[in-house]
Amino acid sequence: MKKKLIAGNWKMNGSLAANETLVKAVVAGLPASLTCDVAVCVPAPYLAQVQTLCAGTGIDLGSQDVSAQASGAFTGEMSATMLKEFGVRYALVGHSERRQYHGETDEVVANKAKAALANGITPVVCIGETLAEREAGQTEVVVKRQLAAVIHTNGHCISEIVVAYEPVWAIGTGKTASPEQAQAVHAVLRAQLKAATDKADRIKILYGGSMNAANAKELLAQPDIDGGLIGGAALKAPDFLTIIRAAA
Ligand code: PEP
Repeated sequence: MKKKLIAGNWKMNGSLAANETLVKAVVAGLPASLTCDVAVCVPAPYLAQVQTLCAGTGIDLGSQDVSAQASGAFTGEMSATMLKEFGVRYALVGHSERRQYHGETDEVVANKAKAALANGITPVVCIGETLAEREAGQTEVVVKRQLAAVIHTNGHCISEIVVAYEPVWAIGTGKTASPEQAQAVHAVLRAQLKAATDKADRIKILYGGSMNAANAKELLAQPDIDGGLIGGAALKAPDFLTIIRAAA
């Protein structure tokens, strides 16, 4: 059976002291035999610190972005090869906050996924509709368009990505998609991946959007929900650990 993945997205939170306390508490509370994959996607300045804190613990390191470019005059960007030097295993690409505040298009996101894959980093491709799009009945159209761009650019490598379905209206709002709403979209995405590759069953499709200690079990029980991308709840060790246990 496919292992679930529970990935924390710390967003722009943390400090050297807070990170150490958080990671140490998560490590101390991990189940003795971990049957799901666990990762934390941390702000870039803390990659080296968290790489050291996570070494040998079973927790993988993730970045919150990666450049589509290999090197050169791209001030502020970080390349996949740089991330690789810090042991980064996952890179979020196309998080809705990047799409919204940094104007990232489907094409940019697809190219970021490509740069990650070319360097042995698993892109966690975030897609999801806004509230207005859902209310206009456009959910399927939007998420399929976002995923299609990544499929188109990445060809046969597509089976190496992780997808995170994150309805924008559920991120950081405390409003969660119901397990049925989430499963319905995940099934659409699975079908789209199946049309693109015969290895679609091995692609993890995570749910993200106010997943927490109370709702994780029910969401993770859905047949096409292969894990979670966790924002706020990943900053509280007991809550993150409850979600990990729900996936294990
Ligand atoms: C996220 O940032 O990807 C996220 C899902 O945030 P939250 O869990 O806080 O909604």
